[in-house]
Amino acid sequence: MTPQKPDPLPGRNPPGKPAPGKPVPVFDWRPLIFTLILFVFYYYASARQHQAPSEVPYSTFKQQLVNDQVVSVQIKGQQVQGRYRDSERKEGFDFSTRLPPITDTRLLEQIETHQVELVAQSEEWPWWANLLVSVLPWVLIFGLFAWSNRALQNRMGGSGAGGLFGFSKSRARLYENLDRKISFDEVAGLDSAKHDLREVIEYLKNPDKFRRLGAALPKGILMMGPPGTGKTLLAKATAAEAGVPFFSISGSEFVEMFVGVGAGRVRSMFQQAREKAPALIFIDEIDSVGRVRGTGVGGGNDEREQTLNQILAEMDGFEPTEPIIVLAATNRPDVLDPALLRPGRFDRKITLDLPQKKARLQILQVHTRKKPVAQNVDLEQLAGRTIGFSGADLENLVNEAALHAANTDKEQIEQVDFEYAHDKIILGSERQDLLNDRDKQRIAYHEAGHALLSLFLPNADPLAKITIIPRGRALGVTETMPTEDRVNYTQEFLEDRLCVFMGGRCSEKVVYGNVSSGAADDLKQCTRLARRMITQWGMSEKMGPVTFLQHEEHPFLGMEMTQPKDFSDATARLIDEEVEAMVKRSETRALDLLQQHRADLDKLAAELVSHETLAVEEVRRLLNLA
Ligand code: ADP
Ligand code: ZN
Ligand code: MG
Repeated sequence: MTPQKPDPLPGRNPPGKPAPGKPVPVFDWRPLIFTLILFVFYYYASARQHQAPSEVPYSTFKQQLVNDQVVSVQIKGQQVQGRYRDSERKEGFDFSTRLPPITDTRLLEQIETHQVELVAQSEEWPWWANLLVSVLPWVLIFGLFAWSNRALQNRMGGSGAGGLFGFSKSRARLYENLDRKISFDEVAGLDSAKHDLREVIEYLKNPDKFRRLGAALPKGILMMGPPGTGKTLLAKATAAEAGVPFFSISGSEFVEMFVGVGAGRVRSMFQQAREKAPALIFIDEIDSVGRVRGTGVGGGNDEREQTLNQILAEMDGFEPTEPIIVLAATNRPDVLDPALLRPGRFDRKITLDLPQKKARLQILQVHTRKKPVAQNVDLEQLAGRTIGFSGADLENLVNEAALHAANTDKEQIEQVDFEYAHDKIILGSERQDLLNDRDKQRIAYHEAGHALLSLFLPNADPLAKITIIPRGRALGVTETMPTEDRVNYTQEFLEDRLCVFMGGRCSEKVVYGNVSSGAADDLKQCTRLARRMITQWGMSEKMGPVTFLQHEEHPFLGMEMTQPKDFSDATARLIDEEVEAMVKRSETRALDLLQQHRADLDKLAAELVSHETLAVEEVRRLLNLA
């Protein structure tokens, strides 16, 4: 029973999402030509077959011949075609038959005596047909071989120096003919990143202007930011805005089986870009090739290192005046090889952060632009309640809302659909658990405890919604909503927050005199926060303004990176004691407050049992708060 999900502290690990956007591959004519040749061949073969009408036995033919019923015959090799005269009907009909392998010496004689018109044809095919028949199988075999070779290479990583048949070039997709141009308007927020990239666009559009003044732009620009913040989107938009060829390749595609393959791809990609300059090269997820070299099992991954070396060599190789810009994106800048960041390579960095409230609103607006959204939808409120959401998460939110609206047969997406999507994403799907009345009441008291404290504590995040419908892992949820994104946490805020965490368990203690296992997650979060306050933020009198590093949060991914302990065991014990004292202080505060407001607690819990979900307005009305 967590008091609130969007954890305003860094640490949210939002779901990643593959970038949409269809690459337009360079058109490959070869399969078409093969198909054409095949078609011609079969057409010819079947046309030959069509010349053979109703086949009759040789004996029948001879019988008809003797009966004077054959008008004409054509003999071509063993094949005999001819025309019968029908005694009853006026018109004749065609037949065909085969000569027996034993020479029929009387045939010619009979044909002559019965005055049948005879045409003898050479067995030969026209010269081109013969050529076709003798060459075609080889062409097909060769083609098939080259084809499967290429398919194999595609799977295994393409071939560097042109592949076995020179077919396999870079697997970089060329977005030259972007079917749908992504403009900067579709990239919401990210103002400073867009500002930096406008300069690049200007340069790619008009390199001469810069060249004349001897101004050299950076060759490489590294975009860093958490997953889903629009790095890939921004790269595509930059290429579209500049109107230049866009070569895009993902770092993960390089990490393949054979040494030398990735390096070859890099080489051919840069070569293609040079031919088409001005051009933009985009290396997505560069961290998968650009990790610090010489690490890992067995002295590192040779393939990865070669690829990285090739990228570095290519970037060093072209002149600063060559109008090629290499954009790269990563969400792990911490693991990048420092060589990548040296001057002349990716020396300019653009950081994309998770969007703040205003940007979230803009992103929601971009993604609802082409959808029928009802008048009553309050995107602004939604933006406020989606702290920690990336652009991709917000897109997903809008999509979930649209799905829900469609599932309920609506013409428009309404506020309730957005509510549903929001709750589903943040809190998890509703569970259909059947709770008995006793459990339900305990959960109601637990959540009411969290909720009352967030209402009464002056510095805590304000209450948004309470529910005792089990969702995801939680049995009930109290959602709070900060009025604005917090960039900094005061000690007062954090202490109130500790207290709100304790609210659920303390409420159970006040009402039932005992506690339950339902507060496990609350306790964990409370303890973790208290520890951070003491070891990272110097918020304990006893420990003083000293940091004790053991874990550090990853700047983008929110995971903890373990560091060597830089303090003694005695200090460790002191820290543990301080954490315990801090958590206990917040427990006492929570208990006191809830005891004071026992009447409100009972009222709120009873209302929750009957209504299951309450919005903050309903809670305020119930408790007669302003
Ligand atoms: P990244 O490459 O940083 O992981 P993407 O560029 O793939 O993120 O973003 C995924 C999707 O999220 C995009 O296709 C877009 O629809 C949406 N998105 C992300 N950031 C924004 C933004 N700033 N404005 C509009 N849409 C965004
Ligand atoms: Zn709880
Ligand atoms: Mg991406």
